[in-house]
Amino acid sequence: MATGLALGLLAGVLAGCGPGEPAPGIVLVVLDTLRADRLGCLGGPRPASPHLDALAAEGVLFEEAVAHASWTLPSMAALLAGRLPTATVFDGRLRESLVEQLADAGFETAAFTEGGYVSATFGLDLGFGLFREQEGEVGLFRGGGEAGKGGIERTFAAAVAWLGQVGDRPFFLLVHTYEVHAPYRRRHFARDPPPPGLGPTFELADVLRIRRGLLPVGPREQAWLEALYDGGVLEADRHVGELDFELRRLGLAGRTTLAVTSDHGEDLGGRFPNYAGDHGHALYEEQIRVPLLLRGPGLPAGRRIRDPVRLVDLLPTLLEIAGLAPPPGLDGRSLLPLLRGGDPPPPETLLRTTGEAGKPARVGLRSGRFKLVVSDPLAHPRTPSMELFDLEHDPAERHNLAEEEPELRARLRARLRTLRTRERTEGPPRYALPRELPAELEARLRALGYLPPSAPGRSGGAGRPSSTP
Ligand SMILES: [Zn+2]
Repeated sequence: MATGLALGLLAGVLAGCGPGEPAPGIVLVVLDTLRADRLGCLGGPRPASPHLDALAAEGVLFEEAVAHASWTLPSMAALLAGRLPTATVFDGRLRESLVEQLADAGFETAAFTEGGYVSATFGLDLGFGLFREQEGEVGLFRGGGEAGKGGIERTFAAAVAWLGQVGDRPFFLLVHTYEVHAPYRRRHFARDPPPPGLGPTFELADVLRIRRGLLPVGPREQAWLEALYDGGVLEADRHVGELDFELRRLGLAGRTTLAVTSDHGEDLGGRFPNYAGDHGHALYEEQIRVPLLLRGPGLPAGRRIRDPVRLVDLLPTLLEIAGLAPPPGLDGRSLLPLLRGGDPPPPETLLRTTGEAGKPARVGLRSGRFKLVVSDPLAHPRTPSMELFDLEHDPAERHNLAEEEPELRARLRARLRTLRTRERTEGPPRYALPRELPAELEARLRALGYLPPSAPGRSGGAGRPSSTP
């Protein structure tokens, strides 16, 4: 596409829906737990993402998109708010969401999610006129049977049915699935017999056996898990392809921006063998780097952006595509100026995991090519309390520079403290679970591995208590 034409179209995007122009539509797909590096277009080892790769060729691929946290609730809160969560943004429930602005502007707003943390219980329905969760069973409650039609079928079917009645109104649709999340039951790439000790699928019971040291994970087990995981990626990819087909069939594609991302990645056992099939316990790239794809009217095709961007930038971008000005005070910035050749958003992201009672067990700063992670030694006695990596020369984060580069370490540490200033003044976000969880939601969180399996007297403390090492 000629540059001038691309700029003209981008200007059209900025204009939103003027008189006579079709009303904008936005579909945001969140494929929970999808590591960026498993996509073909980002160097993945298997043909697991043909539709997402095609989407990248038709639109914009952000190669370095980073989540603020490595588990669902803080990441989704940051994504929807366009802000790094403080107590003002999230105090057990989401208190501000940019979806409200879309609804106020007359957009039909709907979400189809598979529950768990993506739930109205945590206020994530804020701004949505329709918020339907647990649309499918996610395959999580089916007892180890053949991987067949899981929750994703129903979730996407419900979303497509909703799209079928949207007519010519402006709309914002969120579709969220746990298809890629453990358990892994898609055997597209795992046709060989499993390694000894593992079954044909990778179940939550396996995650727990590994966690307890009852099942050692070595290269063979890792390769098996990767094959199963990539099967889930292929399945999720297929549904995105079908959703895209439906957008065209319904005549919506011409006015609809399709965004696809994830809330965090996954540890497939290559980092912490005891945490194979889990996430939320660390801030390494495999857990925080996510796909981010945008395709829509006025957006360039086949554009790859190497500048680091953050999930908090996504909703401000979609607001601008919708013709709305993002409110002041956000951490996120619209990425449209970057596509027009302007300055990228600040190349730094505050990172955090959560430990007991919502206190951060690790905080970090990903700044340009460097990443600093500070870990609570009580929560993480087996990792250095300070880690510093050069992502450009050491993308696998194996060589800790914290001792070798004291000045750089001090500089990043000071910046990290500055970035946490608002967290100190407004109070840290509170991810504690409510005292009374709806029974169905509690069962779902347990099935996802977020609560202990038997939970004799759930401590009612921190979010994700079973996963923080
Ligand atoms: Zn998640």
